[in-house]
Amino acid sequence: MIRLVTLGEFPSEVLGHVARRLHAAYGMGCEIEGQAELPEAALADDQETYEAPKLLEEIDDDTQLYADDKIVYLTSAPLTAPEGPMGKGPMTGFPQFGGGRAVVTSHGLGGKGELPLDVGLAKRAAHHVGHLWDLHHCFDPRCAMHPEWSPGFTQYPEVALCLYDREKSERKIKLGQS
Ligand SMILES: [Zn+2]
Ligand SMILES: [Zn+2]
Repeated sequence: MIRLVTLGEFPSEVLGHVARRLHAAYGMGCEIEGQAELPEAALADDQETYEAPKLLEEIDDDTQLYADDKIVYLTSAPLTAPEGPMGKGPMTGFPQFGGGRAVVTSHGLGGKGELPLDVGLAKRAAHHVGHLWDLHHCFDPRCAMHPEWSPGFTQYPEVALCLYDREKSERKIKLGQS
């Protein structure tokens, strides 16, 4: 089961859209679970941006995780990561690669060169959920696993997986459920 937990307000039709797209992409149930608070401890120095890895560590959430559950936290706050090889910059989300939790932001959606809120949030969420099943980045710009910072990512609004990634995710999901 994929569980959506909101950190702040989202229109219910947007959440419904995200849940339907995730369900279609992974063939797995997706529920809107509830709401949690943005952890203040993860606020960056600018008092506005949240450090994504820290946010996942600090979040106070009693959602029960079963073995094959994935939790996706949705926020509109800007996210960042600590300085790394890619430099420090805005991110669309952050997954615990191969793990159970990811945070995804709607920040920037609807703006110039970006996808609309509902479509964009669904695509970002599908991408980071893919990382939770160990999916890597993909060259195919139509695939949701195309790098999220690449211009191709915003050119294709559909949430679709290429054959390779679809089969890999199906194998991972089966393993998780066995
Ligand atoms: Zn990615
Ligand atoms: Zn792919």
